[in-house]
Amino acid sequence: MSGLRRVWSRGVGAAAHLLLWLAVVGSASGAGGKLGPLAPRPDWGELEKFQGTITRAEFVRLLDRVYAPGGAARGMVTVGEEGAVISAGAAGGSIRLRFAASEAEARGVGRYWRAAREMGPAREGRPLEGVRVAIDPGHIGGQWARIEERWFQIGGGAPVMEGDMVMVVAGHLRQRLESLGARVLMVREGLEPVTRHRPEGLMDEARAWLAERGFRFTKEGYSGPHDPGRFASVRWNAELLFYRVGEIRARAERVNARLRPDVTVCLHFNAEDWGDPARPTLVKANHLHLLLNGRYGADELKYDDQRFDMVVKLLGRSWPEELAISEAVANSMARVTGLQPYEYAGGNAIRAGRNPYLWVRNLLANRLYQCPVVYLEPYVMNSREAYARIQAGDYEGTREIGGRPRESIFREYARGISEGLAAYYRESRR
Ligand SMILES: [Zn+2]
Repeated sequence: MSGLRRVWSRGVGAAAHLLLWLAVVGSASGAGGKLGPLAPRPDWGELEKFQGTITRAEFVRLLDRVYAPGGAARGMVTVGEEGAVISAGAAGGSIRLRFAASEAEARGVGRYWRAAREMGPAREGRPLEGVRVAIDPGHIGGQWARIEERWFQIGGGAPVMEGDMVMVVAGHLRQRLESLGARVLMVREGLEPVTRHRPEGLMDEARAWLAERGFRFTKEGYSGPHDPGRFASVRWNAELLFYRVGEIRARAERVNARLRPDVTVCLHFNAEDWGDPARPTLVKANHLHLLLNGRYGADELKYDDQRFDMVVKLLGRSWPEELAISEAVANSMARVTGLQPYEYAGGNAIRAGRNPYLWVRNLLANRLYQCPVVYLEPYVMNSREAYARIQAGDYEGTREIGGRPRESIFREYARGISEGLAAYYRESRR
């Protein structure tokens, strides 16, 4: 809304006036607050469409339990009786969000995705009929796998590249979902970046980002993935901005502006620290978890873009759908893979309820995609078990691995997801 002051007319009638009230106090969206690297300056006026769409109780529940637990938004989101005041930009600018007086009075939220219960019943055997499912195979792979640090190789074995492996899963998943009636949309098709950024063009941004985080001694280049000083290197940070930040921002643009799916499935393989990629460590641990968006920290919410993204995510009300679909897929994946739940030790993730496989964490992809996101982290690629299965490649039927018949790891992964989605939509579309 580019800084102009807007106050709703008092002539719109008492009820509407109660529900609709947006005032940009001070110089909101024009003034520059802190922004993360490659983040566009938020257009706070976009929040206008959320006026009167949420009750105070629901806003507080989502803020305290999901998005900013532990008072992380204190001083940045202030909840009053009739509305919330959200800091917007520098110089004390803020946005007032008016709550709905009751659930009955809450206006619907305008959004591009549909929850399963809004879709109506599907035909027998085609529970995903008409559901728009975007598949987002994580990372880029191919010639980019090494700089992504999603590459390792043991002796003469096939290199393990996460970005390539998730494409194999995506191919099987697409077939399965289409046979269940889904309209499948691919967030990427091949082993090339979606973003037009390249590391060479991001060196200045990398320098600024290093300075922002207080790195006083930096160096230009680095000698490889085993170089412990690479985190202070301009080149390494420019690469990170390219393959993570720039790439995910480009994918989010594609998801939200073009694909507009009902749900996005983000495919990853997990890993434990493997050390030197040319002499990687294999571990015993092999596990599964899924990530939902939330648990923003106070340090993250100080960034204008992250605070804005959090408020959009909260007000977009994807939480209940994201939770329900993720739970169905987690249960199915656990049954199909037999993997144990992963436990976060640090404080950057919280549980999403009682399901041991579900965790809440603020990731760029699950934050920027406005639709519900099913974000999977099954299999530890450098576990002995998963490594042996990855080396066996993709095949039909079963093969004996480690003394028992196993389905191809890629097909098992795809089957776990598709059976979970089928169960969820079958149950919810009646
Ligand atoms: Zn990954």
